[in-house]
Amino acid sequence: MPKIYLIDVTNRDGVQTAKLGLSKLEKTMINLYLNEMGVFQSEFGFPTTRHETNYLQANLELAEMGVLKPIRLEGWIRAIVEDVELSFKRVPGIRHLNLSISTSDQMINGKFHGKKTRDSIIGEMTDAVDAARKHGAESIGVNAEDASRTNIDFLVKFGLAAKAHGAMRLRYCDTLGYDNPFSIYESCKKLAENTSMPIEIHCHGDLGMAVANSIAGAKGALDGGQDSYINTTVNGIGERAGNADLIAVILALTKSKQFAEKYPLGNKIDLCRSWEIAKFTSYAFDVPIPINQPGVGANAFAHSSGIHADGVLKDPENYELYSYEDLGRGEPVKVETGREIITGQYSGISGFSHVMGQMDVKFKSREEANEVLELVRYANVESHKPLVEDELVFIAKYPQIAKKLLTMTPLE
Ligand SMILES: [Zn+2]
Repeated sequence: MPKIYLIDVTNRDGVQTAKLGLSKLEKTMINLYLNEMGVFQSEFGFPTTRHETNYLQANLELAEMGVLKPIRLEGWIRAIVEDVELSFKRVPGIRHLNLSISTSDQMINGKFHGKKTRDSIIGEMTDAVDAARKHGAESIGVNAEDASRTNIDFLVKFGLAAKAHGAMRLRYCDTLGYDNPFSIYESCKKLAENTSMPIEIHCHGDLGMAVANSIAGAKGALDGGQDSYINTTVNGIGERAGNADLIAVILALTKSKQFAEKYPLGNKIDLCRSWEIAKFTSYAFDVPIPINQPGVGANAFAHSSGIHADGVLKDPENYELYSYEDLGRGEPVKVETGREIITGQYSGISGFSHVMGQMDVKFKSREEANEVLELVRYANVESHKPLVEDELVFIAKYPQIAKKLLTMTPLE
């Protein structure tokens, strides 16, 4: 029985969002939270981009140490041989790749201006797949950018060519959020039936349907006899109107009317990590969670009208589809209203020791404490805001990894 898996792309598509960004430590924290949740794969960055190199290598080291496990860490590049070669040069340990190329006639004419044809696109993509395999890639997905505006028979041809060269999955990108649940269902079913490849679903919210399209596309792939891999981002952060929100997708897959009975998740997801990852990501991007966000919005479990309040007090199921405990909510949040000691880029050892002591972090020596403080200062230089407890604990626990994350050497 085919199943549905999650690939979170916050650290690739999310960080491409205009006006937003994440520090390398923040990206690492998101990978850790995704791993703890049980998300199958994180598209963790750009192996051809110089300033990502140390971050990607450090995260692969965390995977090797068993800290980032079992999550699969996969890099995103263009489907050209040059990008594949550069990826393995900069990040030799990378084992999972998604190779992306535009497939629609709109892009062939409007972006490539006749420099590429449908045939040359297939040729470039299969050359890139060959090169990735030669370098020892264990899993390769191919991304059809603008798939929703691509001729479906050409997409089948594209998928079959990728498969013949050893790609494992075909990513159907609704790059402009053009699909609706009915159209994406048909497309993904046809692709699954005719390519016999697992189908990745990548949706955007330009028409407000990213989550609905994601589960409809997954249904199409499963009805076509194949597994499906839904692309999400935390809090739906993504280009323009954003991507399919991770938490909303999980809720839709597991709580919507009779869906999970026939279309189950392939691995266990710990939904009660939702609150933690949503709050952290909101803080890291400095984008508030909308009050009406499914599951994690401030109003997701708030009731004020007489009939609803009375009903929910009698039995929460009267007016709540799922419980706040399911999302990991309900713990009181401590807000300091008096004196605060904060660790920043100009902090000294006394304040730092006080902050770490409150979290029960102990250092072997003053030298060790000073080293960790230095790393924390650098992390603050990059993030421009106080580090959260989990970040401070991470740096204290893995100082060598933190050092690597914070190291950038431009124009060497
Ligand atoms: Zn996208």
